[in-house]
Amino acid sequence: MKILNVIGARPQFVKAAMVSAELARTPNMSEVLVHTGQHFDANMSQLFFEEMGLREPDYNLGVHSLSHREMVLRMQEQIAAVIEKEGPDALLVYGDTDSTLAGAQAAHQCGVRLCHVEAGLRSFNMKMQEEYNRMETDKLSDILFVPTDTAMRNLLNEGIDPTKIIYTGDVMKDAALYFAPKARKPHAELPDRFVLTTMHRAENTDDPEILRELLLSLELITRFVPVVMPLHPRTRLKMQEIEYPIDNSPITFIDPVGYLEMLYLLNHCRLVLTDSGGVQKEAYFAHKYCLTLREETEWMELCARGYNHLLGHNHLDIVTTARNFLEMPPIFIDDLYGDGHAATSIVQALR
Ligand code: UDP
Repeated sequence: MKILNVIGARPQFVKAAMVSAELARTPNMSEVLVHTGQHFDANMSQLFFEEMGLREPDYNLGVHSLSHREMVLRMQEQIAAVIEKEGPDALLVYGDTDSTLAGAQAAHQCGVRLCHVEAGLRSFNMKMQEEYNRMETDKLSDILFVPTDTAMRNLLNEGIDPTKIIYTGDVMKDAALYFAPKARKPHAELPDRFVLTTMHRAENTDDPEILRELLLSLELITRFVPVVMPLHPRTRLKMQEIEYPIDNSPITFIDPVGYLEMLYLLNHCRLVLTDSGGVQKEAYFAHKYCLTLREETEWMELCARGYNHLLGHNHLDIVTTARNFLEMPPIFIDDLYGDGHAATSIVQALR
């Protein structure tokens, strides 16, 4: 059985690393790995292939830095051409990026079975491009691999055929458990006992007022605890546009780190502040409280149990909540997101 595995952005490298390794181990399964090119900086792409043992893609489509519409169209065209050439039995997509949607539309266009890893997640915020991408992908999918019961319920509420939905647990948990012993310190100079921050969502970076307010919040937090932030290229660009003094800030900015270094940062921080979907769960895996710099999240089970707290943009809310959470002892008593073998369940289901 031939699987076309479509990836393109950083979180997809993390997710696909586990599935790709499982495909390689499974008899009578072959994989064609397609990198759309969406993320292309060495530390947003190549580094993940090296650190996570993800093999060189069979195709790199080199599509990036375009508008959403153009990007999806170009990727779709090129993925369709790969499908024509390779004749796969199924196409696998991950998450909610433009690469996900392009893969989904190409599979649909070519009549190839589409399987969606991390299906059913919803923020219920239709202003998010990611929400549109994942809903469209779910509609087109023949098999929907869900990481949580909430995701399963979301799909059932939308009237998706229950026989298409398979609960697998979360492949990011597989990755966090598998790579935990390999975590390594980043090269950058780090303060002790820091707050770890990541931020890249369009809703937080593209509006200068919101971006300024969030940066002010982080600056205020540095008055009582250091803040370390691996800087996403999009955020760096937007900060340059508002002339934020990146090199002269109380926040410790570092370049984006690889996955193994990120695991180290998660293990050694005191608290996580993020707008990332993946990092919210990884904070939980590392038994760190997470403050989410958004109004809503796809991972509500973390909020319901008190591990994750949603904060908007207001600097007073952010600073006072951070202060409170820094005082809280870490009490992590349950074991969410599956048993760490989601990739095995996915590949078995494909078979
Ligand atoms: N990540 C990383 N280095 C960084 C920042 C994030 O390895 O400097 C990893 C993080 O641990 C997680 C994934 O990238 O596995 C999340 O990607 P991102 O936040 O870009 O996307 P999202 O999860 O929001 O879709």
